[in-house]
Amino acid sequence: MTLLPDAEASSHPVGFFPAPRAHGLERLRQFLPAAGRAYAASRNTDFGPERRDNVSCLSPFIRHRLLSEEEVAQAAHGAHGFKGAEKFIQEVYWRTYFKGWLEARPHVWSLYRDAVPAAMSGLTAAEEERYSNAVGARTDIECFNHWANELIETGYLHNHARMWFASIWIFTLKLPWVLGADFFYRHLLDGDAASNTLSWRWVAGLHTKGKHYVAKASNINTYTEGRFSPDGQLATSPEPLHDDWNRETAPGRWPTPLGDLLTPGGPCLLLLHEDDLGAALNVEGVDVAAVAVLGGQAERSPFAMGEAVGRFAQEAAADAAERHGSQLVASVEGVVEFAQKEGVRTILTPYAPVGPGADRLARLQEVAKAAGVAIHDFTRPHDLAAWPHCTKGFFALKKKLPGLLG
Ligand SMILES: Cc1cc2nc3c(=O)[nH]c(=O)nc-3n(C[C@H](O)[C@H](O)[C@H](O)COP(=O)(O)OP(=O)(O)OC[C@H]3O[C@@H](n4cnc5c(N)ncnc54)[C@H](O)[C@@H]3O)c2cc1C
Repeated sequence: MTLLPDAEASSHPVGFFPAPRAHGLERLRQFLPAAGRAYAASRNTDFGPERRDNVSCLSPFIRHRLLSEEEVAQAAHGAHGFKGAEKFIQEVYWRTYFKGWLEARPHVWSLYRDAVPAAMSGLTAAEEERYSNAVGARTDIECFNHWANELIETGYLHNHARMWFASIWIFTLKLPWVLGADFFYRHLLDGDAASNTLSWRWVAGLHTKGKHYVAKASNINTYTEGRFSPDGQLATSPEPLHDDWNRETAPGRWPTPLGDLLTPGGPCLLLLHEDDLGAALNVEGVDVAAVAVLGGQAERSPFAMGEAVGRFAQEAAADAAERHGSQLVASVEGVVEFAQKEGVRTILTPYAPVGPGADRLARLQEVAKAAGVAIHDFTRPHDLAAWPHCTKGFFALKKKLPGLLG
């Protein structure tokens, strides 16, 4: 099923974020001087797409592990010390937190995935019109239209704009939160099953029960430096949403660290994929006969994806393949064929956290098993150390940050 309103269909191609890791590293180098107290003081202001020097814009690279959370946090730590870079480091770990939280509740992802097409087909005629105006940037709210266009055109929105947009979508336009999350997921270059789904739930008051985020015209005016002021246009005292999705169903279910897999099983194929393109990956001691990168894109939405998202993911995979001197493979069947051609019976791959990438690797498991090829996935040390502290609120993880950074 594809549904692409006019304004989305006419989206422009983007050159804002070239994918290679080298570009991410250069961006990190440029941003580092601002990652200390300047970041803490100015990060909440959205100066507009022409001026993004107060935030890192590293999320598309981190999302694919073209840069690792660890190397970004350590670089800021090295430049400013823990106290100086604390706010930036915390933000990097918000991503880790959301991922760890979802690991313990994989059903939240399945429920969300099933809810998207159901919500779309359940829209009333009036809601359908509001939805079409929202994704087509044709509402009466100027700032909202601006962000819808910016998202489609650049694949990126400032964090505060994401919060305002989600709040207006849910509480003023009264549209289903899952369709807003889907709209983001189809267009964000950093679109991530955990950060996106759970941030939308957080705004709605579903992540932290009863605590919702209500966008205020005065706050938008202040933090856009007067670019927007939607006075009298926004819902002022809406109720938070409710559901019963948050129960923990799978605590600590992620797989072994790499070290535990170093059994004398013969040479293996190392497989990188869209959730982990191998930034700062240490496979010392592993007998790697060849490296493959699974290209293409796992299905993030039942509806049409933004063009720039697919392009960024494809360029990211091609860059990883080139850097690792490896084969870019388009399908899970192709991965197994490549392993057979290389004469290996074991594929080793970094763990894909809950989301469409993991769903795709689950299919690889089936195809490989039928061909007599074993797949072992391993969890990165960064995730292994942090995820056990991510099962409740962010505060439990925040307390551990100095220790986690060593
Ligand atoms: C409704 C909504 C949807 C979102 N969807 C996504 C998403 O799909 N993917 C995504 O990576 N982030 C998402 N975020 C979080 C956040 O907005 C982005 O990570 C951030 O804006 C990226 O810009 P940056 O790289 O300049 O961030 P910076 O401020 O420079 O932060 C550095 C890094 O920390 C991480 N980070 C920062 N803030 C957050 C946060 N609040 N939650 C999680 N990680 C954070 C990102 O990896 C980011 O690159 C969402 C937030 C909201 C409110």
